[in-house]
Amino acid sequence: MYNIENIRKDFPILSRKVNGNPLVYFDNAATSQTPQQVIDCIVDYYSNYNANIHRGVHSLSQEATDKYEQARKTIQQHFNAKHTHEIIFTSGTTHGINLVANGFSSLLKKEDEIIVSALEHHSNIVPWQMLCNSTGTTLRVIPMNDQGELVISEFDKLLSTNTKLVFVNHISNALGTINPIKYIIEKAHQVGAAVLIDGAQACPHIKTDVQELDVDFYVASAHKMCGPTGIGMLYGKEEWLKKLPPYQGGGEMIAEVTFEKTTYADLPHKFEAGTPNICGGIAFGTALDYMNTVGFDTIAAYENDLLQYATKKLLEIGGLKIYGTSKQKTSVISFNLEGIHPYDVGTILDKLGIAVRTGHHCAQPIMDFYKIPGTVRASFAFYNTKAEIDALVEGVKKAKMMLS
Ligand SMILES: *Cc1c(COP(=O)(O)O)cnc(C)c1O
Repeated sequence: MYNIENIRKDFPILSRKVNGNPLVYFDNAATSQTPQQVIDCIVDYYSNYNANIHRGVHSLSQEATDKYEQARKTIQQHFNAKHTHEIIFTSGTTHGINLVANGFSSLLKKEDEIIVSALEHHSNIVPWQMLCNSTGTTLRVIPMNDQGELVISEFDKLLSTNTKLVFVNHISNALGTINPIKYIIEKAHQVGAAVLIDGAQACPHIKTDVQELDVDFYVASAHKMCGPTGIGMLYGKEEWLKKLPPYQGGGEMIAEVTFEKTTYADLPHKFEAGTPNICGGIAFGTALDYMNTVGFDTIAAYENDLLQYATKKLLEIGGLKIYGTSKQKTSVISFNLEGIHPYDVGTILDKLGIAVRTGHHCAQPIMDFYKIPGTVRASFAFYNTKAEIDALVEGVKKAKMMLS
C-alpha cells in the first residue's frame, strides 16, 4: 500500500508555507522537489570527501572518484545501457542535445534532412536550427493534431533516405502527451537515420530501457527526477559515441597532448572536459535510488489517479479548456479560463500558495498551433495529493470569480 504521508515526510519543502498558505507544489514539470536522502548526500559530499576526481593519488580523491563512477553505474543500470561508458554526464538535457548536435555538424551534408516534432521544447528546436544553418541541412517537422498528438502518418511521409536524424521528445512538457517513440525509432532505422529522444519529461514518470527501445541517444536532467540542478546524462550507443567528435576541449578529455597533436581519451571521458559537477553526479545516483525504492510502477499508477481526478474536477468549472487530451499522457494539465490571461490566474494561485507554471513552457510552436499566448500548467508528482488538487480547483474558481 502506497503511504503518501510517509513519502511527503521525505520532502522537507512540502511542509513550508507560501504567502501564509501551505505550499501546493504543482510545477513539477519545471523541476521536482528534493527528498532528504538527496539533501543528505549533498551535505555528506561537502562535509566528508569533497575532492577533484580521476587525478589525485590521495584518499579523498579516490573516494570521490569511486562514488562518482558508482553513480554512473546506477544510471547505466536504471536505463539498462549495455556499457557504463555509454553514459556521459552532462549539465542537463539541453547540454546533451547540444553535444549531439555539435557532433553531427561534421557528419551532415547539404542534401541531408533532420526531422523534429511540433511538440518539442525550445531546447530541442534551437540546436537543430543552428546545426541546419551551418550545414545547409533541411529541418522538417512532424505536425500535431488538436488532441496534442503527433500525426504519425505525416512522419512516415517525411522519412526518406535523406533523413539522417530524428529528434522527438518522449513526453511533451507542455501537454503531457506520451509519443510513440518505439514506432518512430523503428521507422527511422529502416531508412538508416539515427534517433535522439529527449527524455527530460519521461524520466520522472517512466522507467526507460534504452536497449529495448534500440534508441541511439537518450537525454535527461536530474532535477526533474528528485536530483539537483546542473547535472544530467546523455546515453549514446557506443558506436555513435565513438563516431562523434568531442564537444569541448580541456582537461579530463585527453589521452596525450603536445602542441602538434592531441589524442582524445576513451569513452566516456572524451565528452567530459573539465572538472564536472561531482557532487551533482553522485546526488543524481542517490535520486535514482530513491525513486526506484518508491517504484516506477507505483509512481505511474498513483500519478495517473491524480491526473484523472484533477481532469474531472477542473472540467466541472465552466469556461475551462484543457489543451492536450491524448489518451496517452502523464500527469500534466495545461488549461485556460475563457477570456482570462493565464498569467493572471497564476498570480492569484500564487497568493494562495499554489505553484503552477504559466506561459508558453518553452514550447512556443504548440501555443501558436492553438492560437493562444500560453496556458496555466499544473503538473503532478508522486508526492502530491487529491487534497492539494481540491485546493487548486477552489483556487481556479476563485480566480475565475475575481477576473471575469
Ligand atoms: C525541462 C526540459 C528540457 C530542458 O531541460 P534542462 O534541464 O533545462 O536542460 C528539455 N526538454 C523537455 C521535454 C523538458 O521538459
